[in-house]
Amino acid sequence: MGIKQLKNINMEHKYENQIKCPYCDWEDSDSWEFDEDEGTATCGSCEKEFNVTREVEVTYSTSRIECEEGKHNYQLESHFESKRKFEKGVWSDLPETEWTYHRIEICAECGDKEYIKITKDEYYGALAKV
Ligand SMILES: [Zn+2]
Ligand SMILES: [Zn+2]
Repeated sequence: MGIKQLKNINMEHKYENQIKCPYCDWEDSDSWEFDEDEGTATCGSCEKEFNVTREVEVTYSTSRIECEEGKHNYQLESHFESKRKFEKGVWSDLPETEWTYHRIEICAECGDKEYIKITKDEYYGALAKV
Protein backbone atom coordinates (compact mmCIF):
# COMPACT_ATOMS: atom_id res chain seq x y z
CA MET A 1 0.00 0.00 0.00
CA GLY A 2 1.08 3.60 0.43
CA ILE A 3 1.20 6.34 -2.17
CA LYS A 4 3.70 5.78 -4.92
CA GLN A 5 5.80 8.81 -5.80
CA LEU A 6 5.31 9.58 -9.48
CA LYS A 7 8.45 9.90 -11.51
CA ASN A 8 7.14 12.68 -13.69
CA ILE A 9 4.95 15.31 -12.04
CA ASN A 10 4.06 17.06 -15.32
CA MET A 11 1.71 14.41 -16.60
CA GLU A 12 -0.29 17.08 -18.32
CA HIS A 13 -0.05 20.67 -19.39
CA LYS A 14 -2.96 23.03 -19.28
CA TYR A 15 -3.77 26.25 -21.16
CA GLU A 16 -0.36 26.56 -22.75
CA ASN A 17 0.22 28.83 -25.74
CA GLN A 18 1.81 25.94 -27.59
CA ILE A 19 1.24 22.22 -27.65
CA LYS A 20 3.59 20.80 -25.06
CA CYS A 21 4.46 17.13 -24.83
CA PRO A 22 3.20 15.73 -21.50
CA TYR A 23 6.04 13.22 -21.46
CA CYS A 24 9.12 15.31 -22.14
CA ASP A 25 7.92 18.96 -22.19
CA TRP A 26 8.88 19.44 -25.84
CA GLU A 27 7.06 22.42 -27.32
CA ASP A 28 5.55 22.34 -30.77
CA SER A 29 6.19 25.70 -32.41
CA ASP A 30 3.78 24.77 -35.20
CA SER A 31 0.88 24.26 -32.80
CA TRP A 32 -1.38 26.44 -34.92
CA GLU A 33 -1.37 23.63 -37.49
CA PHE A 34 -3.41 21.52 -35.08
CA ASP A 35 -6.90 22.25 -36.35
CA GLU A 36 -9.14 19.96 -34.33
CA ASP A 37 -10.78 20.62 -31.00
CA GLU A 38 -9.70 17.22 -29.78
CA GLY A 39 -7.24 14.72 -31.11
CA THR A 40 -3.80 13.29 -30.70
CA ALA A 41 -0.40 14.56 -31.64
CA THR A 42 3.00 12.95 -31.80
CA CYS A 43 5.88 14.49 -29.96
CA GLY A 44 8.63 15.80 -32.19
CA SER A 45 11.20 14.84 -29.60
CA CYS A 46 10.28 11.64 -27.72
CA GLU A 47 7.88 10.55 -30.50
CA LYS A 48 5.19 9.51 -28.02
CA GLU A 49 1.60 10.07 -28.93
CA PHE A 50 -0.50 12.16 -26.56
CA ASN A 51 -3.94 13.74 -26.29
CA VAL A 52 -4.51 17.32 -27.30
CA THR A 53 -7.54 19.45 -26.54
CA ARG A 54 -7.68 22.82 -28.20
CA GLU A 55 -9.21 25.58 -26.15
CA VAL A 56 -10.53 28.38 -28.25
CA GLU A 57 -9.85 31.91 -27.09
CA VAL A 58 -12.70 33.58 -25.26
CA THR A 59 -14.49 36.29 -27.15
CA TYR A 60 -17.32 38.54 -26.17
CA SER A 61 -20.49 39.42 -28.03
CA THR A 62 -22.93 42.01 -26.90
CA SER A 63 -26.37 43.11 -27.91
CA ARG A 64 -28.75 45.65 -26.56
CA ILE A 65 -31.31 44.60 -24.03
CA GLU A 66 -34.76 44.87 -25.49
CA CYS A 67 -36.91 47.59 -23.97
CA GLU A 68 -39.72 46.66 -21.66
CA GLU A 69 -43.05 46.15 -23.32
CA GLY A 70 -44.51 49.53 -24.30
CA LYS A 71 -41.28 51.42 -23.58
CA HIS A 72 -39.85 51.34 -27.10
CA ASN A 73 -38.87 54.59 -28.72
CA TYR A 74 -40.06 53.80 -32.22
CA GLN A 75 -39.01 56.03 -35.06
CA LEU A 76 -39.97 55.79 -38.66
CA GLU A 77 -37.46 53.85 -40.67
CA SER A 78 -39.03 53.22 -44.06
CA HIS A 79 -42.06 52.22 -46.04
CA PHE A 80 -42.34 49.30 -48.35
CA GLU A 81 -44.77 47.56 -50.60
CA SER A 82 -44.85 43.82 -51.19
CA LYS A 83 -45.87 42.67 -54.60
CA ARG A 84 -44.87 39.11 -54.02
CA LYS A 85 -45.53 36.44 -51.47
CA PHE A 86 -43.29 33.75 -50.10
CA GLU A 87 -45.00 30.44 -49.73
CA LYS A 88 -43.63 26.91 -49.39
CA GLY A 89 -40.16 28.17 -50.22
CA VAL A 90 -41.10 29.97 -53.43
CA TRP A 91 -41.72 33.58 -54.30
CA SER A 92 -44.66 34.33 -56.49
CA ASP A 93 -46.07 37.57 -57.85
CA LEU A 94 -49.32 38.80 -56.38
CA PRO A 95 -52.07 40.49 -58.37
CA GLU A 96 -52.17 44.24 -57.73
CA THR A 97 -55.27 43.93 -55.55
CA GLU A 98 -53.31 41.81 -53.09
CA TRP A 99 -50.24 43.99 -52.76
CA THR A 100 -49.53 44.91 -49.17
CA TYR A 101 -48.07 48.08 -47.72
CA HIS A 102 -46.06 48.45 -44.55
CA ARG A 103 -44.39 51.10 -42.51
CA ILE A 104 -41.28 50.00 -40.66
CA GLU A 105 -40.54 51.63 -37.36
CA ILE A 106 -37.34 50.97 -35.51
CA CYS A 107 -36.75 51.52 -31.82
CA ALA A 108 -33.91 53.99 -31.31
CA GLU A 109 -33.06 52.31 -28.00
CA CYS A 110 -33.00 48.60 -28.74
CA GLY A 111 -33.31 48.33 -32.50
CA ASP A 112 -36.54 46.34 -32.39
CA LYS A 113 -38.46 46.59 -35.64
CA GLU A 114 -42.17 46.93 -36.04
CA TYR A 115 -43.91 46.18 -39.29
CA ILE A 116 -47.13 48.10 -39.37
CA LYS A 117 -49.60 47.31 -42.08
CA ILE A 118 -50.89 50.44 -43.78
CA THR A 119 -53.23 51.11 -46.65
CA LYS A 120 -52.14 51.89 -50.18
CA ASP A 121 -53.27 55.50 -49.69
CA GLU A 122 -51.20 55.86 -46.52
CA TYR A 123 -48.25 54.39 -48.35
CA TYR A 124 -48.41 56.84 -51.25
CA GLY A 125 -49.28 59.69 -48.89
CA ALA A 126 -46.13 58.98 -46.89
CA LEU A 127 -43.98 58.79 -50.01
CA ALA A 128 -45.41 62.07 -51.29
CA LYS A 129 -44.35 63.80 -48.06
CA VAL A 130 -40.68 62.89 -48.46
ZN1 LIG B 1 7.89 14.20 -25.89
ZN1 LIG C 1 -36.91 49.36 -27.79
